[in-house]
Amino acid sequence: MNKLDAQRQKEIQQAEELLFAGPQALGFAKGLFQGHFVADWVMPYPRIPAAQQPELDGTLTELRQFLDEHLDAAEIDRKADIPRSVIDGLGRVGVLGMTAPKEYGGRGFSQMANCKILEEIGRRCASTSVFVNAHHSIGIRALLLFGTHEQKQRWLPKLSTGEQLGAFALTEKEAGSDAANVQMQARPSEDGSHFILNGEKRYITNAAIADVLTVMARTPVPGSDKTAVTAFLVTPDMPGFEMIEARMPKMGIRGTATGRFALRDVKVPKENILGPPGKGLKVALTVLDFGRTTFGACCTGAAKTCLRLATEHANTRKQFNKTLGEFHLVKKKIARIAADAYAMEAMTTITASLIDRGLEDYMVETAILKVFTTERLWEAINDAFQIYGGSAYFVDLPVERMLRDARINQIGEGSNEVLTSFIALVGMRGPGMEFKEIYDTMLKPSRAGIGRAWTAGMHRLGATVRIPDVPVRSAELKSFANQLGRLIWRFNFAVNRALIAYREPILDLQLVQERIAGAAMDLFASTCVLSRLDAETQFGQRNGESPASKNYAAELFLRQSFRRIRGFLAGLSDNDDKAVLKTADSVLG
Ligand SMILES: Cc1cc2nc3c(=O)[nH]c(=O)nc-3n(C[C@H](O)[C@H](O)[C@H](O)COP(=O)(O)OP(=O)(O)OC[C@H]3O[C@@H](n4cnc5c(N)ncnc54)[C@H](O)[C@@H]3O)c2cc1C
Repeated sequence: MNKLDAQRQKEIQQAEELLFAGPQALGFAKGLFQGHFVADWVMPYPRIPAAQQPELDGTLTELRQFLDEHLDAAEIDRKADIPRSVIDGLGRVGVLGMTAPKEYGGRGFSQMANCKILEEIGRRCASTSVFVNAHHSIGIRALLLFGTHEQKQRWLPKLSTGEQLGAFALTEKEAGSDAANVQMQARPSEDGSHFILNGEKRYITNAAIADVLTVMARTPVPGSDKTAVTAFLVTPDMPGFEMIEARMPKMGIRGTATGRFALRDVKVPKENILGPPGKGLKVALTVLDFGRTTFGACCTGAAKTCLRLATEHANTRKQFNKTLGEFHLVKKKIARIAADAYAMEAMTTITASLIDRGLEDYMVETAILKVFTTERLWEAINDAFQIYGGSAYFVDLPVERMLRDARINQIGEGSNEVLTSFIALVGMRGPGMEFKEIYDTMLKPSRAGIGRAWTAGMHRLGATVRIPDVPVRSAELKSFANQLGRLIWRFNFAVNRALIAYREPILDLQLVQERIAGAAMDLFASTCVLSRLDAETQFGQRNGESPASKNYAAELFLRQSFRRIRGFLAGLSDNDDKAVLKTADSVLG
């Protein structure tokens, strides 16, 4: 085995240990890769339980009133600071401990309800929504998910009310996209009572204002010369905690305090370890699943603001004696924003409901949600910007701020390239393992092995032959449902073909992965849209709405999404990949 192969095997082994905890219920996205439509996870469209709705409505009313009166997004951007009074107010409304259990001072909201709260904040101010995400979605998440009762009792009450603030510190100079490459060291003391932490973290949201930070550091694995990442709770009052740069000046989400800090021989008690020692990467990935879900909610809110702003301008600005909205090229942009905003909300709701309903493994769905919503929001803001013309360029309107703010979304919490590759590879792992079983048996036949390979082969073949049923209740949506079923079948066929054609080298073929992930993302998006549209159609019919009243945005989304899926699948055989790679190589040298 050469050095490169050995490195690859090590990476695969690390990923296997990290991502696959054993047999679990088949999730929706992984099901797609196997040609299944696992309807139970996505249909009927999830609703907030009736008993929880009044509390959510009350909180939303209170939040809207507070934000109307006290949140000035333009000033937050100008002054590059979120006033403490805003943070305190969010704490009073409950936003900073929304999903923390009531026994620890939180509000005990579900993820679905929490996403409605984040959508509302995301509509108005990206700095504030990122601040809330850093504190609540990721900053205190490891404590919520992996903390012991004693740890929760000690730390959560003040963090849930906002009296104290949290942050999540994974990124370092050498550990950006390559999160497993954390270099910060945590050495156990001789008496085993504490760990001594050394190293630097950068780009950490809330670092300078946080009272408690979840910090990832490398600990020795007992009985070996290896190290593994462990999650620690660190407080800035610990001797040796040094804030190198409290607020790194930046282009967007300027209100957030993004910092760089060093730990120099910081003694952290062993009681501050979160989750199992050595399992910090698993902790971090699980935490980020939650962050990516609320990312979707914030992007949905911002996309709705784009739609409102674009519509207002298109209806009022006149050129050539017509309002801008009369021109087809402007209509096209507005229609696309409307369609995408509808889809973003549906995807966020369904993804959050997977967490609420206890699906164990939702990492592909949260990755899809993050990539899809951040890319669509970027397009929506770009379209709104274009509709505003020259006026968008000036700082008296919110569009330029929104553009600056939105750019981080495609990079933070896993860059979209890394996640695109992740979606394809994790999704393909199921069918890939079945093929591997068949190949391995062909190479080294044994009686038991042939039996297993036969079962795997039949399973693969069975999924390939059947077009999955997409069970909508509304007769008028059957045609969309049938098209979606056929596309899932074609997708599964394409995945199988790619696995057979490329085998293990597919792990490096990112241009192939991009198309497979692209198709998977649109299949999930159309499913969410169809599920939501079905529920709304049923509701409309029960309430005597005319069957002719159509949701044009949802139907447009389905048409455009299906067209994109067909494009991705066609691109698997008709593409310029070789020329692209040769050109890049000729430039890269
Ligand atoms: C404003 C802001 C706030 C942040 N807040 C936090 C926080 O609170 N906590 C925290 O821990 N971190 C935080 N981060 C860090 C953020 O998560 C990282 O910036 C992100 O993970 C990317 O790492 P990097 O910047 O080192 O980019 P790099 O890893 O250097 O990647 C640069 C680019 O290379 C490409 N790339 C990298 N790897 C691959 C690959 N395998 N395949 C294809 N393309 C690839 C991608 O296009 C990527 O955008 C924040 C960053 C910013 C800018």
